[in-house]
Amino acid sequence: MASTTTTTTNNNNETPDAPLAPEQLLFSSTDSETLSKNILMVGAGGIGCELIKTLALTGFRNISIIDLDTIDISNLNRQFLFRKKHVGMSKSQVAKESVEKFAGSKQTGINIEAYTGNIKEERFGLDFFKKFDIVLNGLDNLEARRHVNRLCLSANVPLVESGTTGYKGQVTVHLRGKYCSCFECAPKPVPKSFPICTLRDTPSTFVHTIVFATDLLFPRLFGANKEDPSDLDEEEARDAFTRKENEAGTAFAKRVFAYVFEKKIKDLLEREDMWANRDKKPEALDSETLLKTKEERTATTGYGDAHKKWTMEEASEIFVRSAGKLFEKGDRISEFDKDDDDAVAFVTATAQLRCANYGIEYMSRFDAKGVAGNIVHAVATTNAIISGLIVIEALKILNAQKHLDEKEEGEGKNDRLIKLANSRYTFVGNFNAGRQLLQPLAPDEQNPKCVVCANARAELCCDISKTTLADVISKVLKKKLNTNEPTVLKGDDMLHEEGEDLDDDEVENYAIIGKRTLQDLGLESGGILCVDDNSQELKFDLVVVHQNLEEFDEDAFPEGFELRGETPKVAEGAEKEKDEDGAATDGEASDEIEIVEEGVEITKAVESPRLGKTKAIASSPSPASKKRKTK
Ligand SMILES: [Zn+2]
Repeated sequence: MASTTTTTTNNNNETPDAPLAPEQLLFSSTDSETLSKNILMVGAGGIGCELIKTLALTGFRNISIIDLDTIDISNLNRQFLFRKKHVGMSKSQVAKESVEKFAGSKQTGINIEAYTGNIKEERFGLDFFKKFDIVLNGLDNLEARRHVNRLCLSANVPLVESGTTGYKGQVTVHLRGKYCSCFECAPKPVPKSFPICTLRDTPSTFVHTIVFATDLLFPRLFGANKEDPSDLDEEEARDAFTRKENEAGTAFAKRVFAYVFEKKIKDLLEREDMWANRDKKPEALDSETLLKTKEERTATTGYGDAHKKWTMEEASEIFVRSAGKLFEKGDRISEFDKDDDDAVAFVTATAQLRCANYGIEYMSRFDAKGVAGNIVHAVATTNAIISGLIVIEALKILNAQKHLDEKEEGEGKNDRLIKLANSRYTFVGNFNAGRQLLQPLAPDEQNPKCVVCANARAELCCDISKTTLADVISKVLKKKLNTNEPTVLKGDDMLHEEGEDLDDDEVENYAIIGKRTLQDLGLESGGILCVDDNSQELKFDLVVVHQNLEEFDEDAFPEGFELRGETPKVAEGAEKEKDEDGAATDGEASDEIEIVEEGVEITKAVESPRLGKTKAIASSPSPASKKRKTK
């Protein structure tokens, strides 16, 4: 807390933009006016559980919380408002009930509204957002974050945004104005994350199979807490994963092999509902044949060329042999270590065998090691620190609001609020030169080219004789610019609308128009399409500039178009992941295990938009002391 306020030594409020003193911003929090403000929390997952608890204990009395998810057993290790008996129940509802138990709904008059649903639903539109004094995000996916950002801008409600990756995290404040960026002013690549059930039952990528090996199977067999029940332990699995007395390590490994790659898959196949809407079903391996092969082979040592893929027989033999070696190491192993060759061999073999089960292309030991080395786990302590920081920023904004002139209007008012509140973008766990846990920085300024908050135009460079309107809608407006239900106009001509209230004729008519090219629709180079998305209260002009398709560099623009300017973009990998397993939803549904894309440093993934600033400040003893000197 001290770090966020050390820069505020100025107690003179006669200067219009001087920040208020810390005691005015924070310690007046017992003020009943501030504590009765309406707060909207989006997400009741890792951050959300900590946040609603901290809000209640701070004394806030009017809290609404939204999450679409139900509680999974894998949430229990860090979402402390949930217990085993709550598995399968609504996260937001249980969070409300758990907090009411210790915050006492009657005595303190705390009023928590719990909503189970997707933040993008119509009932959570602009009118809903306008009811709140501040919005606090505890989300895990970019799509929902961008949606909330847009509604907050339209409703002119301050947004405190947050995120964590392992030991790192950040809290930022957003409000339309010059002195403060919106969430989408700078592009944000995100780490990918996966729900346990996908990893366990329905993997669809090589990464899924690696994470299954490192985070589920490895700890279950070799980890420090291997005696404890894990996410793999359904009733019949208990025996399969328990080593019998005096059983040889390799014999146990063979039993695990037969269970994981054959028996368990056969069991899953019996669950018809699970495969009804999936392209393909898994196939069980023939463990008897694969394991018998080994006896006929000459004894091998080592794991071969790291870049060469193994055959199925090799992978089976290595699974058993590496497991045997890991069992011999016993208590010297506590978790997966990417520098332990036996561990990497075991994980690679497991991943390859799982790939064979699910018809996924597998990779070499070298590649598997690269993927496995980038896995980041959710850390409860980081979530707790971040939640505390969110509440501090919220208190600062709400207390500063009381010092604003009520009659003052427009964007100047927002800028003054950010200054009075001394709002900070705080980064946690970067350990800069000053070895500080927290690194509070002045907010980024608004990006004048931001389509979302600065009324900037988006510019699409494409071949207008080949690009259809439907291409623009699906590939540009929805995929790149994150719109939900865009309406497209050219001058006064309505080219596209969507939504439930259209009749069949209209839908058919727009489908026909969609198939026409932009040129065919009368658009010339430099022409403008007006885009309007009611569900996000977002409106902007899309300027279309012509370039022949052959002139696009295929490597740089494989889709054959370029969206210019500093428009926010979704990280390609993250988006693909989401499409494949449909996992990215609201409220930290899928933050169990995160993985940063290969070759991308975690620091970059968390805070790439800020890198320049962070570096500059890290070279001085500490951000706080530097700030003081320059004041
Ligand atoms: Zn912006």
